[in-house]
Amino acid sequence: MEPSVTANRLSTKTYQLFSDYHSHPQGHRVQWYTQALLQPWADSARRSGLTDIAFTDHDRYHAGIDFDEIDRLRERNPDLRIRAGIELDNDPIHSAAGRNWIEKHWDKLDFVLGSVHFLTRADQMFDSVPDGAAQFEGRSIDAIYADYFRRVREIAATGLVDCLAHLDLIKIHGHRPGTGTGSLLSETLDFIHAQNLAIELSTAGWRKPVNELYPGDRIIELAIDKGISFTTASDAHSHAQLGDNFRSLAQKMANFGIRRVCIFEKHNRIQVPL
Ligand SMILES: [Zn+2]
Ligand SMILES: [Zn+2]
Repeated sequence: MEPSVTANRLSTKTYQLFSDYHSHPQGHRVQWYTQALLQPWADSARRSGLTDIAFTDHDRYHAGIDFDEIDRLRERNPDLRIRAGIELDNDPIHSAAGRNWIEKHWDKLDFVLGSVHFLTRADQMFDSVPDGAAQFEGRSIDAIYADYFRRVREIAATGLVDCLAHLDLIKIHGHRPGTGTGSLLSETLDFIHAQNLAIELSTAGWRKPVNELYPGDRIIELAIDKGISFTTASDAHSHAQLGDNFRSLAQKMANFGIRRVCIFEKHNRIQVPL
C-alpha cells in the first residue's frame, strides 16, 4: 500500500500535533534540574504549539532529575502539561542503577521510555554518529537486526517501561536487512502489544544518516494492524528541537490514517483524538 495513495482517500487535512514525549533537558551529561534549565523548554513548547511534553532524560543521568523542580515548572506554566519521565536503555554499565531508580520513583513518574542503544560493545552506543557504524563492519546485518530486536523484547519485558523509543534505531547508519526479517518484526510487535506498550513516532530519524522516520512505514503498518498506539516524539537534545519536523510527521500520520495519539499521566495511557 502506497501511503500517498491512502492520503488522498483517507484524509484531506493534517493535524496539529500537540504532544512531544521524548526530550532531554540534560543533553548528554548530568545537569541539575533548575528553573533556568527547564523554563526554556516550556517556552519552546509554547512557541511550537505544543501543550503536553514529557522530559525523558537518559537513565544514566537520573541524579540530575528533581521532581520538586518539575512541580515548580508546572506551577509557573499552568497552560502546559509537563510530564516527569525518563528513558531507560540497556546500558550494560549504568542501566541496573537506572532500573533501581525507576522502581524507587515509579509513583512520581508519568512516563518511562524503553530503548536499546547497546549491542555487543559495552563502551559505545551503536547509534553514535558516525563512530557507531564501525560496529556493523564485517557482520551479518540480518544477525545484527535479530540481536537488536531480541534486546528490544528484553527491555519491553522489564515491566518498567510504558512506551518503546525509536523502535528501529538499528537502521540509523543506513544498514538494511534482507527480506527474512518480516516475522522478526511481527513477533516483536506482537510481544509489545501483549505487554500493553505504546511505541513512538520519532522525527529524530530524519536528522540521522538514514533520513527516515522511526519507525519505518512497514513497522507503522504492522503496528496499526495489531492495534498498538503511538506517541509523537522529537528526541530533542536542545529545547530548540522540541516538536522538530512535526508538520511532516502530521502529514505522515494523516497518510496512514492515524487519528489518535496517546499521552500518559502517572503511567496511564490516554488516547486523544487528533
Ligand atoms: Zn534513545
Ligand atoms: Zn532519547
